[in-house]
Amino acid sequence: MDIKGKNNKINLLEFGAEDLGAVVGGLGMKPYRAAQICRWIYSSGADSFSAMTDISKTDREKLSETAEIRPPELSKRIVSHDRTEKYLFSLQDGEKVESVLIPDEGRLTLCISSQAGCALGCRFCLTGAGGMRRNLLPHEITGQALVAERLAVSGAAPDRQAHEGRRITNIVLMGMGEPLLNTENVVEALRRLISPRMFNISPRRITLSTAGVVPGIKALGDSGLGVNLAVSVNAPNDEIRDSIMPVNRKYPLKALVKALKDYPLAPRRRITVEYVMLGGINDRPEHAAELGRLLRGLKCKINLIPFNEHAGSIFKRPEAASVLTFQERLHSMNYTAFIRESRGADILAACGQLRGLSARKTLTEEKPGV
Ligand code: SF4
Repeated sequence: MDIKGKNNKINLLEFGAEDLGAVVGGLGMKPYRAAQICRWIYSSGADSFSAMTDISKTDREKLSETAEIRPPELSKRIVSHDRTEKYLFSLQDGEKVESVLIPDEGRLTLCISSQAGCALGCRFCLTGAGGMRRNLLPHEITGQALVAERLAVSGAAPDRQAHEGRRITNIVLMGMGEPLLNTENVVEALRRLISPRMFNISPRRITLSTAGVVPGIKALGDSGLGVNLAVSVNAPNDEIRDSIMPVNRKYPLKALVKALKDYPLAPRRRITVEYVMLGGINDRPEHAAELGRLLRGLKCKINLIPFNEHAGSIFKRPEAASVLTFQERLHSMNYTAFIRESRGADILAACGQLRGLSARKTLTEEKPGV
């Protein structure tokens, strides 16, 4: 296998901690150099070999000649008034993906993409409207976290006070794409995010969100990684779900709920059920009651997300009173249900919105800070 890029250098980010040992060995270095390199890249955020001062000068020169540390290129950054940040990344072949950084009390959560585009075509989603481009490779998934963390740690983010010196504490795979249609690469990316030698993020702080790809849910459970699972349910019955999420025709609600009940949850953990509320479509009190019956017996909490209207969307935001009534109905059935507003509404933080606008060149580009 040729592991060199176009510039004839090996991108070390392409390798997990174990494989890096073989790569380093192949360059004629002692295998323990791999652990040092990992520490520099993933703990210290080094972006060049010259910073790796505990590696001999000879080996650093050899690394500089033959290898590189090349994450996805940050091509745009937009900051919301609520301190949410959105990043647009360019991949090596020119594909574009998005990430969203969400600062919250004591937490810095990064929402990352797993595919360029998406094949599932959910009717309320701009990414879906743009169609599928390709699966992301493991290092293209983790690379989003590497760049975002460099920004946060260096204080290069425009809101310095918010991020300076902070590490990413939580990861959600909820950006562009359906992670469980790219399961092999996503599972490898998750291993690297969890690995103490790499990102070292607890699986309890990682959440994968799926539109309901039943075989993928089983595969993720079988992987034994122990990450949290969220699922976009968005409808109380197959008729409504078929009309807004074509994936439901392949994996209808009964099969989906069974797969969720079978998912191996860590003690005291629950599945997160996401329910995007679309005015006049799925927001009536009887829909809440039907949803409650559908989820009976599933260890879950429910996030109600009023739809974020955007230019060209065919759906409407529900009335505030409908959202409250919906929540109360679920509470009366003993469910934990929260109302979640989308963060960063002013910077188009819903997946696919920045990329969509980028394609139409209507946003002012900011100078990337990395
Ligand atoms: S909501 Fe998610 S799964 Fe559905 S089309 Fe958009 S990116 Fe794909």
